Amino acid sequence: MKRINVTRSSMPSLEEYEEEIRPIFESHQLTNMGPVYKKFQKQLIEYLQVPELSLFVNGHMALEMAIDALGLKQEQGEVITTPFTFVSTTHAISRNRLKPVFCDIRPDDYTIDPAKIEPLITEHTVAIIPVHVYGNVCDVEAIQKIAEQHGIKVIYDAAHAFGVTYKGKGIGNFGDASMFSFHATKVFNTIEGGAIAFHDKAYGMPLHELKNFGIHDEENIPAIGANAKMNEFAAAMGICNLRRMDECLRRRKAAHDRYFERLSGVKGIKLCEPQKEVVPNYAYMPVCFDETEFGATRDEVFRKLAAHDIYARKYFYPAVNELNCYKCYSDQKTPIAHRISTHVLTLPIFEELSTDEVDRICDIILH
Ligand SMILES: *Cc1c(COP(=O)(O)O)cnc(C)c1O
Repeated sequence: MKRINVTRSSMPSLEEYEEEIRPIFESHQLTNMGPVYKKFQKQLIEYLQVPELSLFVNGHMALEMAIDALGLKQEQGEVITTPFTFVSTTHAISRNRLKPVFCDIRPDDYTIDPAKIEPLITEHTVAIIPVHVYGNVCDVEAIQKIAEQHGIKVIYDAAHAFGVTYKGKGIGNFGDASMFSFHATKVFNTIEGGAIAFHDKAYGMPLHELKNFGIHDEENIPAIGANAKMNEFAAAMGICNLRRMDECLRRRKAAHDRYFERLSGVKGIKLCEPQKEVVPNYAYMPVCFDETEFGATRDEVFRKLAAHDIYARKYFYPAVNELNCYKCYSDQKTPIAHRISTHVLTLPIFEELSTDEVDRICDIILH
């Protein structure tokens, strides 16, 4: 039996990629927002149905720079965010010298609980950074209302939500900005890459400058930027993978539906139910195990699968506010995030995972 990891990168054929990078070998323009970058950017704007989009070297730098471009770097500034995420979300806040304020999550879809946001708002709050975790859509309406009432910004970490739509709109249309990640392990990849989607054209220039050392023109460098540009080879990979998205989603859905057939209704197992008015992307397959009802702990299931060369992941364990680098915030209690992080396992799901393999994984879990 072959080893199965939690994910496997989707890739085009070598010939198809070769075709796409041929012009780069002819022009010798390898980076700095060249023609392939621009072509890919245009295609993505269409695919994601967003008005504006800036491409980055990865999702993390995109989020770090969005926080800066939106003018949120303020003395003593605080950002309300979720502890149930990849540590990148919190790092992007902290590396901008802002204080993360952890808000607990909802027990059903694991996104930030809007009912718990308001009590955390202080005179120092500058923004909310929620996460569409596993591609589950946050309560964008409630979050928007709170943000407007308090005059604060919202930046979504949409790293998991590529291609998701809510009420017929691309997920990148909510809040002031949304970050997408195109890392090799995500639903859609450019090897490494990321983007910020936004609607206020005013953010376009600062984002563009920040990712290119703050350079406005040769003699004029108004901002202290860094280097976070997407290169032409990554953009070419994006063009190839975007072409394959429908096929990729169709196959992910088949694996996802098979998991649901096998696991839903099993005592002690909780799956994320489909959300209303959401077109999902089947990015992850999170399963919560209740040891008293299921008869095994999350860690026992994890080890049992590993013994069969199947590698599920404990996304996201520990919760971010329980990591050593954020222990200083351990007084901020988020019991639901703690409970989910200690009980959840994300099972393998990727384009090439067959329904037979899903059956094998489910057989091991259930027997
Ligand atoms: C992957 C990920 C990121 C970081 O994206 P990179 O492209 O890997 O830098 C940020 N937030 C979440 C929730 C992620 O899963």
